[in-house]
Amino acid sequence: MSEEDQVHRGSCLCGNVQYETTGPLRNVIACHCTQCRKTTGHFLAGTSVNKSNLRMVKESTLCWYQSSPGHQRGFCGNCGSSLFWQAENQDGISILAGTLDGPTGIQLKMHIFTNDKGDYYKLSDDLPQYSEDILDAIWTSKTNAKTNKE
Ligand SMILES: [Zn+2]
Ligand SMILES: [Zn+2]
Repeated sequence: MSEEDQVHRGSCLCGNVQYETTGPLRNVIACHCTQCRKTTGHFLAGTSVNKSNLRMVKESTLCWYQSSPGHQRGFCGNCGSSLFWQAENQDGISILAGTLDGPTGIQLKMHIFTNDKGDYYKLSDDLPQYSEDILDAIWTSKTNAKTNKE
């Protein structure tokens, strides 16, 4: 099976939101910004696919919250799970890695917005850490393709 044929499935905690992705998943980026900390209760670990590679299987309770201009966060209105993050002007959509089922085959590769992280935990791995806003660079499909090939 080629990378393009990969199918991954995921869901919220109650199962009212279910999705399927095709093609390779981007490696995981941990975002420690204040918004991600609030919405997840810790920090956000997200993979990403092109919006066209995400298919909603069930979305009756999927809600979108505009967390900043042009940026939306998708969550389940029934169980409260955070599932997605997207920017209007980008091809990719972030999928919170914890919502994926089964083996993902991807790895955590970097930490971003580390200047906003909570003081109650340490980043003790040796992954790169970025304090500045590099989201726009990261989420573009170009970078997306590059990080997949690592
Ligand atoms: Zn749910
Ligand atoms: Zn964030």
